[in-house]
Amino acid sequence: MSDLPPLSAPNDADIQAEFIRVVSVGGALDGRLWLEVGLIRWTGPHTPALTWQVADSLPAGASAEAVTTAQTALLNDARYFAVCERCGRRCPQGWMLDGVTCQACAERFLEHLTE
Ligand SMILES: [Zn+2]
Repeated sequence: MSDLPPLSAPNDADIQAEFIRVVSVGGALDGRLWLEVGLIRWTGPHTPALTWQVADSLPAGASAEAVTTAQTALLNDARYFAVCERCGRRCPQGWMLDGVTCQACAERFLEHLTE
């Protein structure tokens, strides 16, 4: 783990909306908020499948601020997301070719190579 401040990417809000969800589980007294991250698995070369994994949990009464803090921490968790060093966009790890380049950039780069 590093102590670098969180990177922010221009599409963070989109990625958070699409790939991080908060699920309320349990009852009023013992309830929890689960923060789930959407993981992309490739069942074929062009067949992504999204599965949800519980990545963090908070007490049901957690403040909106605490939820936001936890969501931001997940966005910056390298197990789940990475920022492409070419386009600067944050992508789920399932979209990353090699941990530093997203597939969209890799495809553009390869097209350029074969022109
Ligand atoms: Zn990229």
